[in-house]
Amino acid sequence: MADRVRRKIRVLFAASEAVPFVKTGGLADVAGSLPRALKHAGAKVAVIMPKYGNIPWEYQEKMEHISDFYVPLAWRNVYCGIEKLTFNGVDFYFVDNEAYFKRDGSIYGYFDDGERYAFFSKAICEAISRVPELACDVVHCNDWQTALVPVFLREFYREIPVCQNVKVMFTVHNVKFQGQYSDKVLSDVLGLENIPAAVDQLYCDRDSINYMKGALCYSDIITTVSPTYAGELQMPFYGEGMDPIFRRRADALVGILNGIDTIDWNPKTDKFIAANYDVKDLADKAENKRLLQEEFGLAQDPDRPLVVMIGRLTNQKGLGLVRYAMGQLMERGVQVAILGTGDADQEEAFRYFDSVYGDKMAARIAFDNALSHRMYAGGDLLLMPSEFEPCGLSQMIAMRYGTLPVVRETGGLKDSVAPYNQYTGEGTGFSFANMNADEMANCLLNACEIFWTDKETWAKLQKQAMAADFSWKRAANDYLDCYHRLHPEIIRYNKRRD
Ligand code: ADP
Repeated sequence: MADRVRRKIRVLFAASEAVPFVKTGGLADVAGSLPRALKHAGAKVAVIMPKYGNIPWEYQEKMEHISDFYVPLAWRNVYCGIEKLTFNGVDFYFVDNEAYFKRDGSIYGYFDDGERYAFFSKAICEAISRVPELACDVVHCNDWQTALVPVFLREFYREIPVCQNVKVMFTVHNVKFQGQYSDKVLSDVLGLENIPAAVDQLYCDRDSINYMKGALCYSDIITTVSPTYAGELQMPFYGEGMDPIFRRRADALVGILNGIDTIDWNPKTDKFIAANYDVKDLADKAENKRLLQEEFGLAQDPDRPLVVMIGRLTNQKGLGLVRYAMGQLMERGVQVAILGTGDADQEEAFRYFDSVYGDKMAARIAFDNALSHRMYAGGDLLLMPSEFEPCGLSQMIAMRYGTLPVVRETGGLKDSVAPYNQYTGEGTGFSFANMNADEMANCLLNACEIFWTDKETWAKLQKQAMAADFSWKRAANDYLDCYHRLHPEIIRYNKRRD
């Protein structure tokens, strides 16, 4: 082995979205806060992401042009600018190509997404090889949009000295989204058609190419966002066709539970909520509840348990169970408030409930960050009966606000919520095992029973939930251990957990 050196390990964190620039889901929260925690834990970190047209102007105008070059993409050479902005002490680099990334509306969902993110992945490799400040020891890729980085690095860049010792970590945030395209992309976009090893590892069905499969085969280490999900990925039910690869690569697969941004999500200092409170004194949480009931047009009654749900309205989130149980919950005097956007049929169903259940049920079909803060603060319970949930952030945020989660025992929900144990008094929420609406309703109504009849236990559970540590520090240390596993010649700059 080469001589060992003590220095900061250099990590290039590649993601397709990051808070505060652009967000569609939990990945953006992770990319917005993990790098900062990695920096504190002793890594030298830079983040690279696309420069989307809809990044707020206040950020775009501060970006500094660092470099530009052309990226070879099969038969074309495509312009790529690299712009830089330091935010909260972390250097963010933006891959600029207006034809790909300056679009109206959402950041995903275009006919050429396969080409857009192949370009992004190739641009990352090209940037590592050309821009000295992006030279790194590890590229940390996230989800299918960056999945071709390890493939390109190995097949096209391994002869380039600065790329030779770059290792790749690939993190699976959700295996449902894999980036699967017609095999025409091999010759038309990826330029890999004459490399049999690549062709072999990218093919998934007879005539389609799967970007994530490439990452799972080519990366040096694979992580996912909770230990339970790391186990689930190896099962056919959860693996979405990739389970044989996860089983084959089980030695390289690590589950690390995400954290949350404890500065953004802090009931003591949260500027979006009317009454701040903390774990020592929750009295003012009641005022947030009253205001939330008022805002949603729900009966302003402190004795009604207010169940909030915040998230994408898709099948993944177990909404079928909620729809089935809604009538029963309404009859029992539970209030439900939902914030989310997603599949048309789900949106329609919750709009319908809103219209028929008067002051008991309300749905806001929107993406509204400020409202989500008010809901985390004003709710009594947060319901998250997901069919699968790689990590889930909402339940952790809810706990931080003393809003007790009711979750199905899957993925990160299982790893982050300690179910109430009536014998020991332990717990930070409530959980149930099966995708069964009656089981979910029972679990939720049992929680409500405690809310109605045992205020002391309720208050204790709230305090326990608020005291749980969901900061990024623990996760950052675990990621750093993994980076160093890939580079045993680099000695950790900071001691673990110092
Ligand atoms: P996923 O990544 O599957 O979408 P997570 O629970 O991991 O789910 O993360 C979702 C994040 O997005 C949370 O921070 C949640 O508060 C936020 N969020 C989801 N939907 C909305 C919405 N409609 N309005 C505001 N915030 C939302």
